[in-house]
Amino acid sequence: MSAEHAAPAAAPRTAPEPDGAPTGVWSTGVSRGGDGALSVAGVDLRELARTHGTPAYVVDEADLRRRARAFATAFDAAFAESEGMAGADVYYAGKAFLSLAVARWVHEEGLRIDTSTAGELAVALRAGVPGEAIGLHGNNKSDDEIRTALAHGVGRIVVDSLAEVGRVAALAREAGVRAPVMVRVTTGVHAGGHHFIATAHEDQKFGLSLASGAARKAVDEILAHDELELVGLHSHIGSQIVDLAGFAVAARAILGLRAQVAAETGHLAPEVDLGGGYGIRYTGADDVPPAPEQIARTLADAVRDVCTELGTPVPRISVEPGRSIAGPAGLTLYRVGTVKEVALDGGGTRTYVSVDGGMSDNIRTALYEAEYTATLADRRSDAATVTARVVGKHCESGDIVVRDVALPADVRAGDLLAVPATGAYGRSMASNYNLVPRPPVLALGDGEVRVLVRRETVDDLLALDLG
Ligand SMILES: *Cc1c(COP(=O)(O)O)cnc(C)c1O
Repeated sequence: MSAEHAAPAAAPRTAPEPDGAPTGVWSTGVSRGGDGALSVAGVDLRELARTHGTPAYVVDEADLRRRARAFATAFDAAFAESEGMAGADVYYAGKAFLSLAVARWVHEEGLRIDTSTAGELAVALRAGVPGEAIGLHGNNKSDDEIRTALAHGVGRIVVDSLAEVGRVAALAREAGVRAPVMVRVTTGVHAGGHHFIATAHEDQKFGLSLASGAARKAVDEILAHDELELVGLHSHIGSQIVDLAGFAVAARAILGLRAQVAAETGHLAPEVDLGGGYGIRYTGADDVPPAPEQIARTLADAVRDVCTELGTPVPRISVEPGRSIAGPAGLTLYRVGTVKEVALDGGGTRTYVSVDGGMSDNIRTALYEAEYTATLADRRSDAATVTARVVGKHCESGDIVVRDVALPADVRAGDLLAVPATGAYGRSMASNYNLVPRPPVLALGDGEVRVLVRRETVDDLLALDLG
């Protein structure tokens, strides 16, 4: 839920070959066979395209589970009581991609789930995740969303405005429960990629500002309501972050507020949530992001140091990774259609490679100038490379999937293209622009294909249209 920062345009490069490394752009189950075709977890993508069609989102189940488990294990270790800490919980940010199976997988791997709408909440609950292991976010929660959360005993409602304090209290009274709430604090730290900026003032829709005193006011109002239990303070500083320094600055700010509240009111918030936003690799030319172990250790050191300085006991910590769990585990498989060579003003040509999806299944390139890469998935080619742009089938010149990639000059209609790192914010941000049905989500594991979300059909679209 925050703007991402565009990386500077790089010279077109060929996608790196899959090598099974967890720090690569491909999920660990991707490999290229002797005949040149890609497979995921033992499933040949040519066969997958034949039986399930294209475009399709492909999820490497073992890879996604491994990433979820790595976060749980790393945070359990770094925040263990034996380390002088008070434990940690990892919430998977469901907005990255949520389906019943994914909710079950991450819960089985030891994670809780963050939701921000009735829809995400319903999926997590239907998957069997207990209410107390679910959080509810949102800057404009409806009464129904808050009621549903209270009825299912969600572990925390993250209050995002002063008006919401009274609303949650009234709905808790109506339900006859005490609502566990956190306050979303904007600390002035904003991060993405390599940079973070720390300013006092906040000009954004999320949260309650520390500098203006709004966060403190929310805390005081919550403490004055018997129907509310202040379980913690929350900070989320951005997305696609590879430099962890911003988290330490935000942790210092929020732990400072916690200490101040404790000194002045006697209430020591038991928990602090440091948000999500850990970066992933998209092209292979981008930096290797920190591993969960390094993230957990860096955050634990920052929390320990600041609490020692402040003379307050360490809180339980929670974090909310989304992209770093689902993103690298997914790829999108497209079929190439029209290939067109276009002369450029400064000389040279660009090859426009049109695929059978586009901005309806991946809006991030158009929305954030996000960088991706692509490779032939059905064969190997020894042809020289051309500067290619992978575009979709929509009526919009900004309908670009991959802005610049070197593809073999013999790329042609009928080829399969795979775009890695689309497991997060692909299907979850998909639209029906041009009345294009949304692609299925196919889970691959141990040579088996499981349809997690089926392909939409034109009949599905027509069923909504009552004429
Ligand atoms: C989006 C979001 C996340 C997850 O961000 P990722 O970049 O996917 O890790 C976590 N917490 C909050 C509050 C968010 O808005």
